[in-house]
Amino acid sequence: MKASSSPSTLPVVDAGAPAARKPPVDPATLRHREFDDSEFWRAIPAYADVSRETFLDHHWQAKNSVTRVSKLLDTIRDLVPASFIADVEEGLAHAPMSIRLSPYVLSLIDWSNPVDDPIRRQFLPLASTRLPDHPKLDLDSLHEKADMPVPGLTHRYPDKALFLVLDTCPVYCRFCTRSYAVGIDTEEVHKYHLRPNQQRWEQAFAYIRSRPELEDIVVSGGDVYQLRPDYLRTLGMTLLDIDHVRRFRFATKGPAIMPMKILTDDAWFRALADVVEEGRRRHKEVVVHTHFNHPTELTDITRQAIFRLFEAGITVRNQTVLLRGVNDDPDTMRLLIRKMGWIGVHAYYVYQHDMVKGVEDLRTRVADTVELEKEIRGATAGFNTPTFVVDAPGGGGKRVVHSYEYYDRVTGISVYRSPNVDPEAYYCYFDPIDTLPEAGRARWADPAEHDAMVAEAIEQARARRAGAGGAD
Ligand SMILES: *Cc1c(COP(=O)(O)O)cnc(C)c1O
Ligand code: SF4
Repeated sequence: MKASSSPSTLPVVDAGAPAARKPPVDPATLRHREFDDSEFWRAIPAYADVSRETFLDHHWQAKNSVTRVSKLLDTIRDLVPASFIADVEEGLAHAPMSIRLSPYVLSLIDWSNPVDDPIRRQFLPLASTRLPDHPKLDLDSLHEKADMPVPGLTHRYPDKALFLVLDTCPVYCRFCTRSYAVGIDTEEVHKYHLRPNQQRWEQAFAYIRSRPELEDIVVSGGDVYQLRPDYLRTLGMTLLDIDHVRRFRFATKGPAIMPMKILTDDAWFRALADVVEEGRRRHKEVVVHTHFNHPTELTDITRQAIFRLFEAGITVRNQTVLLRGVNDDPDTMRLLIRKMGWIGVHAYYVYQHDMVKGVEDLRTRVADTVELEKEIRGATAGFNTPTFVVDAPGGGGKRVVHSYEYYDRVTGISVYRSPNVDPEAYYCYFDPIDTLPEAGRARWADPAEHDAMVAEAIEQARARRAGAGGAD
């Protein structure tokens, strides 16, 4: 038989792999492609007999979430010494956030060394690692309440607003910026509650309708994971009905701490997917913003959940909080970003930790964040490379971390400008005092020095802006 060759087909030649210009990669650099598909939860005494089907059930996850120390003890039993439980109890007595851990998150903690574990650090306070709060810290450090025309709607930037639709989450993070509102009351904080009720929402919708410049709404909380599907749908469709609203994002930590809900709560998933689809029909962008902080949080369950969103055409972006001892080293941050990238989650922001009460042990210095950014950029696609930002205390909004006008590494004060918020104002961020050199710690030890240090830093920033300054 005569071989026929079509001109549109390239001849097949087995050429082998072309000669390499780079040495073979160490397989360890491809670890971001590994997603734990074991039944890892069975290591927890209370979950030893829990089947995969049960563990994937979002009702079971919600019902078995740990909200009290006694329940924590019942769940992990003899995995930790009594001294650790006492440390948590004592830590909680002074914490601005109450606890809530999903069985999923609880199972990701390495209970053989909970003190150093990056997941434990995020959700369970310990009295033994507590540091005194920075003197310049207050409860609503971002002044979100000051910028609220109606309860729960912060309008700070020209064309976008932040809508806090509710005040509960499927987990409570120790470091939550909104500890003034989110979660149940604690001994430390009586919260400014933001319930998901029609009347409050209507006020927010009315405000958004009345401001034609608002194109972009950040729907956050709290966490929209907690919204009933019919509420989620109503919320989304109401925003889509406002002509000038061109895009919005649903913020949820859900995929990081209870990914199975996306797989097993069909009503909630459908509500989300329908809003996104209706948005697309109207040429409006509806996306999900999530909050992964550590590579361990991404398991095979996460991969499946994110793929379900991906198949529905839902864009997922991520906002990470930079946390000391959790993700502040280049290897961990690179692994996190590449692991997210592998399953299609775009790394959008890494936040300098806000000035929040009771979590000084989790904050890092601006100088370290600037260095970390250099290590990360170039590791993967630009659109999967996060921008490292500081949300300037006092309501300055997000600034790229290395864009300070002036930075004094001795006092730890960095000074930012934010012309779109206020062209004249200067905003200061303060490094944690325990990370400062001796000279800086000594000055902060003297309350009479505090205002002087701030005034000096702002003066330096002004001078530099006027072109009179020297090197930092
Ligand atoms: C973060 C934030 C936004 C959204 O900012 P992006 O930079 O677009 O992500 C809007 N309003 C407030 C008050 C915010 O804090
Ligand atoms: S999920 Fe977000 S809003 Fe909820 S406690 Fe954590 S940081 Fe705060």
